[in-house]
Amino acid sequence: MTASTVITGIGSLVTNDPSLSASGGGTRGPRDPRDLLGLIQDAAVVVEGDRIAWVGESRKAPPTDNRVDAAGRALLPGFVDSHSHLVFAGDRTEEFAARMSGRPYTAGGIRTTVAATRAASDAELSANVARFVAEALRQGTTTLETKSGYGLTTRDEVRALRIAAEHTDEVTYLGAHVVAPEFADADDAAGYVDLVTGEMLDACAPYARWIDVFCEEGAFDGDQARTVLTAGLARGLIPRVHANQLGFGPGVRLAVELGAASADHCAHLTDQDVDALAGARDTVATLLPGAEFSTRAVYPDARRLLDAGATVALSTDCNPGSSFTTSMPFCLAVAVREMGMTPDEAVRAATYGGARALRRTDIGTVTPGARADLLLLDAPSHVHLAYRPGVPLTAAVWRAGKLAYAAPHAA
Ligand SMILES: [Zn+2]
Repeated sequence: MTASTVITGIGSLVTNDPSLSASGGGTRGPRDPRDLLGLIQDAAVVVEGDRIAWVGESRKAPPTDNRVDAAGRALLPGFVDSHSHLVFAGDRTEEFAARMSGRPYTAGGIRTTVAATRAASDAELSANVARFVAEALRQGTTTLETKSGYGLTTRDEVRALRIAAEHTDEVTYLGAHVVAPEFADADDAAGYVDLVTGEMLDACAPYARWIDVFCEEGAFDGDQARTVLTAGLARGLIPRVHANQLGFGPGVRLAVELGAASADHCAHLTDQDVDALAGARDTVATLLPGAEFSTRAVYPDARRLLDAGATVALSTDCNPGSSFTTSMPFCLAVAVREMGMTPDEAVRAATYGGARALRRTDIGTVTPGARADLLLLDAPSHVHLAYRPGVPLTAAVWRAGKLAYAAPHAA
């Protein structure tokens, strides 16, 4: 028999299942349409093995082997960070400082990271990923996706994916991040697309679940992006797209047309783009406010997407150039302050939305049968994530039913 544990005395529980909330259906009366989060007050959660076995009010909890008292604090699903770039070496502090000082910065940008990543050992790259995954975990992230894209040769892209796969199941092949320096210098973008969709794809496909392309002026145009994604689809990889980050373009509509799991960034959208995302059954709009924060760019309009009916996810885009944060609470606070999201919407986007963007039904909720990925906050409510920006609020994190982190100050 698997030992069971009840986490009881939860002041406020986010389930992400509105049918479970105290104002939910059945004998409890009509449910409140504003209750996106399926909140239960004075709640308990029973964990058995790696799964959630029961959710409800504390006083109704069944007997268990072990008991944890949440002492009135809030519990929510672990964050699902569905977009990051963690396999890299080196540092771009100077570039950031120059950008924030209003000085032009002409040094290598992404090429700096590509050169440092190629020069790094496997052990060095793997240690970097492990450090960022641990950093994210301490801030409540229990699932994260990560990408290749700083190798840009067959050997280095395969290596990045192999290393990523040591740390997560959600691995994305991003050979089409930018045209590799060797091809860019020879003005041969077409030759690089041939490589990315040919030999490099053949070598990378076994290590990845997803294929991504940076569809943007200066990276890959709509036709090139289509070529990359359809080649990936033919190899069983599911598309995701870096779309409409720096300007208007075809990325979002291409993502929806090809049934991509997500269109990421979405900072520059026409009404047609918004309609496409709102009408898409399977394509999530993933917003990455760390990127706009770190480049002083205009934030995406989450309100417009939500009002149109699109599914929205929040993610970090953690990378050394344009968004060097692993903090989902930071992104959530910025989304509330700057992007028109309510605290409830932001929490839902950072958990359930991320799970949808990864096409996962086993994570992102606290419901019977879901994987027991849980974040206990040192706060009475999930609203504190946006209300107390920059404050470390993690009390404890469980991943697949195991206590994966406990804050030193937590009781
Ligand atoms: Zn990205």
